Amino acid sequence: DAKSDGIGKLRFYHPSLKDTMQERIAFESALKEALTNQEFSLCYQPQVSAINGNTVCLEALIRWQHPAYGLVMPDKFIQLAETMGIIASIGAWVIDAACEQLSRWRAMGFTDVRVAINLSAQQLLVSELEQTVSAALQRHQLSGRDIELEITESVLMQDPERAIERLGALQKLGIRLSIDDFGTGYSSLGYLRVLPVNALKLDRSFVWDLEKGGKGLEICATAIDLAKKLDLEIVAEGVETKEQLAQLRHLGCDLLQGYLFAKPLTVEAASIFLINAHRPWQSVMNSDAGFD
Ligand code: C2E
Ligand code: MG
Ligand code: MG
Ligand code: MG
Repeated sequence: DAKSDGIGKLRFYHPSLKDTMQERIAFESALKEALTNQEFSLCYQPQVSAINGNTVCLEALIRWQHPAYGLVMPDKFIQLAETMGIIASIGAWVIDAACEQLSRWRAMGFTDVRVAINLSAQQLLVSELEQTVSAALQRHQLSGRDIELEITESVLMQDPERAIERLGALQKLGIRLSIDDFGTGYSSLGYLRVLPVNALKLDRSFVWDLEKGGKGLEICATAIDLAKKLDLEIVAEGVETKEQLAQLRHLGCDLLQGYLFAKPLTVEAASIFLINAHRPWQSVMNSDAGFD
């Protein structure tokens, strides 16, 4: 009956069981209206070169500012938007907004930087993603090379055959593809051979294990070697300390991202970050003697 359906749904979709059903319904209807009410925005977190500290990429991270709920983080609503079947329209907004912002940065003279956009499972497998992306690129006079799409392993493994086909089509547009949170999902080594991707983003849990002794260092070293042998670029996420920075550089990691360099920034702060020449970690990078 309706009541048990409701309870089943409640358990499945909502991890915080303390909310009442009424509160959940209100939250869902607010989410449904968030796009129309222009409550979404994007923050941008830089990815910097491990060689020279230059900003290579800015990852777009969605934020939801609601009059009553305040600032809602993606972990609280992306999955819900998927189950509600509205992720495609939110995702299309993200793609367009990120492309629009990149074209502004291009106009400001930042010609080398690209943007990375996170994709959810449904976006990759179900919706008209190529058309959405091509339309956004065209609208903002960008080419496929200007953007990167991040997909988690679990998404790819839901339907690997179809994922391979879809990724191949995106790569034909010149778009860079990366596997997000690499190492936390279930992808087999075999799939890495056939997945058309350009980069792996090593999950931050491995980066955090670097300093903890144990086998953390070996695991990071192995992941980085694997990427190199497969001709993939490797990005470390969640870099928070200078020690992690030094070790990741030593291990030959290509790109770095994390609070050490910058937290997710508003458009204004990201623009200042791009303009600003003062980057405290670059002194660490320039003094190679310290960790070679
Ligand atoms: P992600 O793509 O793996 O993004 C990295 C997350 O880790 C971000 O959280 C970022 O703020 C956080 N982070 C980055 N560096 C550090 C660090 O040094 N320390 C710590 N403690 N955290 C760090 P955020 O912005 O809350 O995003 C969470 C997840 O939500 C993202 O994980 C991504 O999977 C998803 N997401 C964000 N924006 C979108 C979007 O537009 N579309 C879709 N489908 N998913 C999105
Ligand atoms: Mg990501
Ligand atoms: Mg990630
Ligand atoms: Mg993550």
